[in-house]
Amino acid sequence: MAAKEYLNFINGRYVPARTGKSYENRNPADTSDLIGTFPVSGPEDVNDAVAAAKAAYPKWRAVPAPQRGEIIRRATEILIRRKEELARLMTREMGKVLKETRGDVQEAIDTGLYAAGESRRLWGKVVPSELPNKAAFVTRQPMGVWGMICPWNFPMAIPSWKLFPALICGNTAVIKPATLTPASVHEFVLALTEAGVPAGVVNVVYGEGSVVGEALLNHPDICGISFTGSSVIGKRIAEVCGRQLKRCSLELGGKNAQIVLKDADLNLALEGVIWGAFGTAGQRCTATSRLILEDEIYDRFLEMVVERAKQLKVGNGLDESVEMGPLVSEGQRQTVHRYVEIGKSEGARLVCGGAPLTSGDYSRGYFYPPTIFAEVTPNMRIAREEIFGPVLSVIRVRNFDEAIDVLNNTSYGLSSSIYTRDVNLAMKAIERIEAGITYVNAPTIGAECHLPFGGVKETGNGHREGGWTAYEIFSELKTVYIDYSGALQKAQIDTAKD
Ligand code: NAD
Ligand code: MN
Repeated sequence: MAAKEYLNFINGRYVPARTGKSYENRNPADTSDLIGTFPVSGPEDVNDAVAAAKAAYPKWRAVPAPQRGEIIRRATEILIRRKEELARLMTREMGKVLKETRGDVQEAIDTGLYAAGESRRLWGKVVPSELPNKAAFVTRQPMGVWGMICPWNFPMAIPSWKLFPALICGNTAVIKPATLTPASVHEFVLALTEAGVPAGVVNVVYGEGSVVGEALLNHPDICGISFTGSSVIGKRIAEVCGRQLKRCSLELGGKNAQIVLKDADLNLALEGVIWGAFGTAGQRCTATSRLILEDEIYDRFLEMVVERAKQLKVGNGLDESVEMGPLVSEGQRQTVHRYVEIGKSEGARLVCGGAPLTSGDYSRGYFYPPTIFAEVTPNMRIAREEIFGPVLSVIRVRNFDEAIDVLNNTSYGLSSSIYTRDVNLAMKAIERIEAGITYVNAPTIGAECHLPFGGVKETGNGHREGGWTAYEIFSELKTVYIDYSGALQKAQIDTAKD
């Protein structure tokens, strides 16, 4: 069967890149499985897409928000109907196991249903004026054309966090999917189109970040950039947007830790760390990359974790019995392995995994086993830098205070977790942990779509995509005064008593 040729989606039409170039999207569990070819676009393609989004904007912003919400609800119904098929496609292009890709599609569904509700709830505030016969209120307005740049680890959920609220707020958009997971975005935008999103409102341009991403960032008709990806690229985006005073919302890297105190339910903490560290083969922004253990339970709990990690079934995510899929690409596998070499050279003790899986069926893809380092000390690079793979660094601490200090000893601040039965210590941890998200007696992963999501320090720039806060990102406030006194009234001056 000939590979499917996917095209850019501009102004409601599928068009090839003006460059005439394309690339292959292959299954990281089995590189003989070709999902399709995608355009390698250039700046002209971005220009076309932005022009289409700009032309569609006046009409779309005039559609009442609840009607925009109705279209999103219909798109959500298409996703519900196609969930299984979309999950399979996503496993093929990204590698994570079916259970997780079903969850990814479900997150887009949940985000869409929430967005449809929010469309009837784009509230402002009515505020008393200090003057008589004068009304004051605050309302929300759309902004224009948003640029969206996505990573590959949540191929549909992350585009949905961006597109749904931006559309509800009345904006139009140009989205650049990650080069490794473009098919999921194609299908997602197809659902929007079938549901009735008009031509030009959502445009998709495939290609390299350094070309398509840069062209979007720099385009004068783009009002804002919503970016999820690494902190290195995030800083570049903030720089360019800063020069042009464009709004930018950044969701960046993480180096998340799970603390287990000596009084914790160790079996529960075990389930948590296995899921947190090795789910999605550790390629989650919220993955558990460090395990911080109180001395009293260190040896016993480490043994429990290693024993379970060794049993995890690694393989093709389309096989329902598989618990961990491959890494997304050979490049990602090399990065992970480089960190394993760094860990060894820093003197950490490798207790399981640590070398690419290459025998038998593993030779078809980019497999890497669950890997655990013990006796990691807080200043090692494997304790502070994001690895983005199935590698867990285990750190010994003397007590609660040291656990918190070690957890905070990184430039990132996305997710965090503490296992304890002591409510006083749990509350102190919530106060002292520097992270956007803290879980108590639950792993570092598991965000729900109707709550704010994001992090502190180098994980972001203060915005929260997810929940009601996403609607603040994608809209501008307008403050309105209506003077119905029929006279000129002067704030601060007429009201002054002397
Ligand atoms: P990445 O930063 O390499 O790429 C992200 C996107 O940016 C891709 O679409 C890429 O093509 C594009 N890009 C690259 N260079 C660009 C440039 N100069 N200008 C504009 N766009 C450019 O990240 P990745 O490898 O795709 O994803 C993994 C990273 O994403 C990890 O650091 C992870 O922690 C982070 N992430 C964060 C969250 C979050 O919500 N905080 C969620 C998922 C992933
Ligand atoms: Mn792929």
